[in-house]
Amino acid sequence: MAAPITLSNYIDGELRASRAGAHLEVHEPAVGAVYARCPDSDGDDVAAAVAAARRAFPAWSRLTGEERAGWLHRLANAVQSRFDEFVAAESRDTGKPLALARAVDIPRAVLNLRFFAGAASQFASESHATSAALNYTLRQPLGAVGCISPWNLPLYLFTWKIAPALAAGNTVVAKPSEITPLTATMFAEACREASLPAGVLNIVHGRGATAGQALIEHPDIKAISFTGSTRTGAAIAAATAPQFKKLSLEMGGKNPTLVFADWNANAANWDVLLRSAFSNQGQICLCGSRILIERRVYDEFTSIFVEKARKLRVGDPLDAASDLGAVVSRAHFDKVLGHIALARAEGGEVLCGGDAVRLAGRCADGWFIAPTVIAGLDARCRTNQEEIFGPVVTLAPFDNEDEAVAIANATPYGLAASVWTTELARAHRVAARLESGIVWINCWMRRDLRTPFGGVKQSGVGREGGFEALRFFTEAKNVCVSLE
Ligand code: NAD
Repeated sequence: MAAPITLSNYIDGELRASRAGAHLEVHEPAVGAVYARCPDSDGDDVAAAVAAARRAFPAWSRLTGEERAGWLHRLANAVQSRFDEFVAAESRDTGKPLALARAVDIPRAVLNLRFFAGAASQFASESHATSAALNYTLRQPLGAVGCISPWNLPLYLFTWKIAPALAAGNTVVAKPSEITPLTATMFAEACREASLPAGVLNIVHGRGATAGQALIEHPDIKAISFTGSTRTGAAIAAATAPQFKKLSLEMGGKNPTLVFADWNANAANWDVLLRSAFSNQGQICLCGSRILIERRVYDEFTSIFVEKARKLRVGDPLDAASDLGAVVSRAHFDKVLGHIALARAEGGEVLCGGDAVRLAGRCADGWFIAPTVIAGLDARCRTNQEEIFGPVVTLAPFDNEDEAVAIANATPYGLAASVWTTELARAHRVAARLESGIVWINCWMRRDLRTPFGGVKQSGVGREGGFEALRFFTEAKNVCVSLE
């Protein structure tokens, strides 16, 4: 067996081991074995990264928007030039099908960089004039900021935070998930290839409880942009409140998919519905995990949906025929299977899946779970209340629009929803009534990066995307000039 790849931190323009020399093991989910080690950084590493970010801030913040845009394009070019390597790395690190990393993760990471390059050159602020005074708003960068990202869409969400932070003139200390550190390390190499000035971006690997905690608590970190679980988001909010840091929190979801009897059940829409449930093994915060179906079509819908779910192929992420790959870790595999056991204990009927999938050959020890569809559960049970974040959906009938909205809203979460109907007025009515940051009508995960992205209730605080992100990463200063 090959020796594990050793990954490094990226601090002050250099690739470095952690100061204490400690490492964490990184597993390849499809084969269930260690293939890399990443730094297990501590407060000293974080302090060095923050100091580098502070030193780099004055020069970086003085650049014009166009100049910063130029840097972001150079980083995008550097990723693009190693596109296939990034695709292979993301698939290997997460267990997701290679085809998904090629179609979604890496193109979107490049797009994030290019999109915020454009946004940097378009960002503007307001002025308010009267005959007596001219008020204008200066939008100034904050300083050194922290970006913390999860494992499900590693480079995609990493760049989604870093790009607007840099575009707005901040310098960054970023902590990728310790479970999927590979593409962040390759991104550091891309920064070096592009000759990004030292300290502008620093990447510190390590555990949430150590490196992450040191980053959020560091007094020189002015804002935290976090994506991850609601539990961690709550801990970050509590820990940073006494320092009054700016916070953007993108957290968990339990998203409803509302299917009305009049929905357009064509092949393309079935395909989207299946993807909305099982894409990336259900490990996308936007996946619809509770499918609510108008009772008139419930039986017919259920039998077609289950038949289609059964046909999804769970297999080696490298195999182009695989629809689903492995889930990200042994702990997550156990967690998802535990939730399926709970659903059974709560009286749920498992209509398909419900178990691990054992593959032959190189993936014999990988962490694969069959697409699982469960019916017969009450909206208030734990299975329908708690985020599972795996290839598991529940189906439930509703009788009318009011009931559909009530069930959809009956969780602590409010990230995304999709509504399937051909009745125009109902689509708008329901969209307005859903407690959700995002509502898709007759589509799912169709993203326009200019739109506000985020959740309500326990799914999020603040919005990412477009100018919302640039506003988050800047402080508004009112300047009032007397005209008399
Ligand atoms: P997680 O909360 O366990 O970890 C996320 C990141 O936070 C990791 O980098 C982790 O090391 C770090 N972290 C953990 N404890 C910390 C602490 N005390 N201080 C600072 N950092 C800390 O989440 P995860 O398991 O990596 O990701 C899955 C979760 O992310 C799911 O709940 C999913 O819904 C959510 N998610 C949300 C969105 C969104 O846009 N709303 C997008 C993707 C994923």
